[in-house]
Amino acid sequence: SGDAAAVVAAVEAVAERIQAERSHLTDLDSAIGDADHGGNMARGWAEAADAVADLEDPDAQTVVKTAGKTVLSEVGGASGPLYGGSLVFASQELEDGVTPETAVAFAETYLEKVQDRGDASVGDQTMVDALTPAVHTFKKSIETDDLPPLEALAKAVAAAEAGVQFTVPIRASKGRASYLGWRSVGHQDPGATSTLYIMEELLETAA
Ligand code: ADP
Ligand code: MG
Ligand code: MG
Repeated sequence: SGDAAAVVAAVEAVAERIQAERSHLTDLDSAIGDADHGGNMARGWAEAADAVADLEDPDAQTVVKTAGKTVLSEVGGASGPLYGGSLVFASQELEDGVTPETAVAFAETYLEKVQDRGDASVGDQTMVDALTPAVHTFKKSIETDDLPPLEALAKAVAAAEAGVQFTVPIRASKGRASYLGWRSVGHQDPGATSTLYIMEELLETAA
């Protein structure tokens, strides 16, 4: 169906963007982690793009589930289960396709799963710092402000961008960066950054 093709295009755009940002993500992770976030994400999303391209006449839910399963199986470390497992879990919200309502449900379920799995809150210097304001902004823009989906997504991207900047002056309390203690202060979180890139590509392909 039409929205499945759009989701396939989004997965391909994410794979390309992550590949283009691979060394930047690696640099960010080398400062406060183990320098594998760029490689992890590039491998996982390249495989995910291949896997969804091979699906025959899929629906949107199947595309997202397949991408998530692939990321989950290809990517080790913290980010594989957080991205992949949460995508698989949240894909159930797209059973009836992609609408503003199902997109909000998907975003909320994805965030809940990331928080469940990783046990991180806002302020722990993780992907949750970009994701949380983005999801809340998206939901409010759709449900309360009644904005068109594209405007809502653009506002969510802006919120994610602010969330990425918010990770810089704070101290990591979850993940590898937390081993550094106060030395993590002053560094931009790699997973928050890749979350922003993914959201930017969702906006690009939706526009
Ligand atoms: P690893 O740290 O295992 O090498 P990656 O480098 O691929 O995995 O991913 C690191 C990113 O994962 C961090 O920048 C952070 O955003 C995210 N992360 C790590 N631990 C958690 C957690 N408990 N909750 C949410 N996000 C986390
Ligand atoms: Mg790492
Ligand atoms: Mg690692």
